[in-house]
Amino acid sequence: LVEMRSVVKKFGHNTVLDRVDLQVNAGEVVVLLGPSGSGKSTLCRCVNRLETIDDGEILVDGRPLPLEGRELAELRASVGMVFQQFNLFPTMTCLDNVTFAPRHVLGRSRDQAEAEAKDLLNQVGIADKCDQLPAQLSGGQQQRAAIARALAMRPRLMLFDEPTSALDPEMIGEVLAVMRQLADSGMTMLVVTHEMGFAKSVADRVVFMDGGHIVEQSDPSKFFSHARTERARAFLRQVG
Ligand code: ATP
Ligand code: MG
Repeated sequence: LVEMRSVVKKFGHNTVLDRVDLQVNAGEVVVLLGPSGSGKSTLCRCVNRLETIDDGEILVDGRPLPLEGRELAELRASVGMVFQQFNLFPTMTCLDNVTFAPRHVLGRSRDQAEAEAKDLLNQVGIADKCDQLPAQLSGGQQQRAAIARALAMRPRLMLFDEPTSALDPEMIGEVLAVMRQLADSGMTMLVVTHEMGFAKSVADRVVFMDGGHIVEQSDPSKFFSHARTERARAFLRQVG
């Protein structure tokens, strides 16, 4: 579904992605691990074309980025992204947050968009919060609303960039449970997280980055018990 070939991304003289090759297949859950500054967020942002790349290529569904105009809009619609900060529209109710893009980008009728939104809010366990503003929700509820909002575009791929890092500990579990349910439903996911329990039990593959390189990738049971590289072992000792 996504294929990165020898991707290079620089900020000035700082090479943040240094010939990264990564493939994410349909239905796969790939967890991206690595120390702060290793390039995880940048990698996600390149997939969604929030950042341009300096060399190499990225194919989404076999189509090369960069795309422009309508094709770029279609890419953005087909790739859902959930960030550390929930980024909900603060003046809109939960329901309006979820229906906004389907109505204005996909051209759905209000009735259809609201029916789908209620369904999604129900799936993430906050059906009773439809008419609340984001500020009236807990952090965990806001993040679940943000997930529902991304899903409302019926994405083929979901990118998660540390979705639980800004949450109080007691709310992390409820967001991870929604992500786990999404993974079980067959969604293709690329997840940056420091939740090793989630990585161990949900990931099909763990990708470890350091200094703009993919240092190691393997299935989670191997990675957590027998990481091949010293850098990965050092990282694992630190987180845990
Ligand atoms: P963290 O775990 O802290 O979120 P990360 O692995 O997501 O780290 P990135 O945010 O991708 O790391 O950053 C990788 C490198 O790119 C860092 O050195 C950072 O300073 C640099 N960087 C990221 N965004 C920009 C930007 N917009 N302009 C300049 N440098 C940037
Ligand atoms: Mg980051």
